[in-house]
Amino acid sequence: MFVDQVKVYVKGGDGGNGMVAFRREKYVPKGGPAGGDGGNGGDVVFEVEEGLRTLMDFRYQRHFKAPRGEHGMSKNMHGKNAKDLVVKVPPGTTITDEDTNEIIADLTLHGQRAVIAKGGRGGRGNSRFATPSNPAPELSENGEPGHERNIVMELKLLADVGLVGFPSVGKSTLLSVVSSARPKIAEYHFTTIVPNLGMVETADNRSFVMADLPGLIEGAHSGVGLGHQFLRHIERTRVIVHVIDMAATEGRDPYEDYLTINNELGQYNLRLTERPQIIVANKMDMPDAEENLKVFKEKLTDDYPIFPISALTKSGLRDLLFAIANKLEETPEFPLYEEKEEDAGVHRVVYKHEAEQEEFFITREPDGSFVLSGEKLERLFKMTDFSRDESVRRFSRQLRGMGVDEALRARGAKDGDTVKLLNYEFEFIE
Ligand code: GDP
Ligand code: MG
Repeated sequence: MFVDQVKVYVKGGDGGNGMVAFRREKYVPKGGPAGGDGGNGGDVVFEVEEGLRTLMDFRYQRHFKAPRGEHGMSKNMHGKNAKDLVVKVPPGTTITDEDTNEIIADLTLHGQRAVIAKGGRGGRGNSRFATPSNPAPELSENGEPGHERNIVMELKLLADVGLVGFPSVGKSTLLSVVSSARPKIAEYHFTTIVPNLGMVETADNRSFVMADLPGLIEGAHSGVGLGHQFLRHIERTRVIVHVIDMAATEGRDPYEDYLTINNELGQYNLRLTERPQIIVANKMDMPDAEENLKVFKEKLTDDYPIFPISALTKSGLRDLLFAIANKLEETPEFPLYEEKEEDAGVHRVVYKHEAEQEEFFITREPDGSFVLSGEKLERLFKMTDFSRDESVRRFSRQLRGMGVDEALRARGAKDGDTVKLLNYEFEFIE
């Protein structure tokens, strides 16, 4: 199981209900209307927290509900708006609506925020419905329900630099000597399938994030083994540091290694090979390394710089880090989710169309009853206080205004037929 994708349910807080109340005045049985509005429900807001590196926490808490607004009160007192629910997420978190596939947010920078589920508006109290012809309305709105949705959170690591290379060439060792260790990650049993990230600081105080991408094996591009998962993480990296065991410790040929890995990168996604590479000749402390490096240089036709180092003795690191930092400065960002955004565009259009034109749907049940559904319709329904005649009459007017009566008639509804909406039943009256 891969940890950096998780499904979560979010719901904005419901708006508080509006109030029906009247001023109490001496000798006047019913003074003017005095029912206050309900407060707005809180939003569910996601905010980037730099220190976070995984979506671990979301595996244990998958429901996030913002609080509801306070109900309106008498004497025209409004209910308080609810506080937003702020949820911290790691940089690089992309949030997608599970049902529409729409990308809701792509959160990358510390402190960046996005509203993921909006809270409902507070219902209006009866004061707001007073008109000259109806100065004392017994009518108020319930709060608007908060927006609810199922989302998929996905974390693409924001590594500027990706370490690639065969197993045991020294990638992890290199990362551990140029960055501070991340002991927290190491505690989890799935350490081996989570790319390790490290913040690297150069001697002249420039910094970048380097990812060790273990498990890159032959055939990874076709989804064999775990390699495929790691390749997805490389998509974001701007510079590839290709680590080679120049001591040929495992008996392989360093140049063959180099070709094999580049072939892997090319087969997964052509754009990976467009990225600048820096070749690291590691294990230069070993006896045969110098000779192997000479041969490697002769064979190499690509125009990539080579940095001989030893991760073990920590030699050659300073210049390597300078070179990486320099390369990063001159390399633009590679856009994330290029294809997906196009997809999402299509979905968004469809969604809008539904939201604006198809305000409701009518289906029929075997017993002949009519079933109404649709987001707007259901919202209006939930905002209606059915214990008051005036509210019910207003709801009927709203339905008529949306063309529901007409549409029911067109579908064959007759006086006395049953019409269902959510868990309620009405009678169709001509
Ligand atoms: P990875 O699989 O690419 O992450 O490789 P590791 O960092 O786990 O290293 C594999 C082995 O190579 C370990 O035993 C390291 O101690 C060793 N190693 C790493 N770098 C060097 C080096 O510069 N010189 C020598 N002699 N051994 C190294
Ligand atoms: Mg490793």
